[in-house]
Amino acid sequence: MSTVSICPRCERDRLHRYRFKSDGAAFSLCTVCDSLWWPQAGTDIANALFLDDVVAARLGEEGNPWATRVWTDVIEAMPDQG
Ligand SMILES: [Zn+2]
Repeated sequence: MSTVSICPRCERDRLHRYRFKSDGAAFSLCTVCDSLWWPQAGTDIANALFLDDVVAARLGEEGNPWATRVWTDVIEAMPDQG
């Protein structure tokens, strides 16, 4: 049974499993529209967060967190599970 799901917001990519390097917190991410879902939330549009907002909040910053860093400084892809 496949666990692949398509991003409900943009429908242009499947959701990828990522995690924060700092504490290993896992989430689902669409790399097209940067929508983020925590695993305990259903991947509905209503529950979608934006990666930028989540990263900025975790870093205690406001605004664009990517002015001084790149994705791979903060998050990393998890191995696909089929
Ligand atoms: Zn998307």
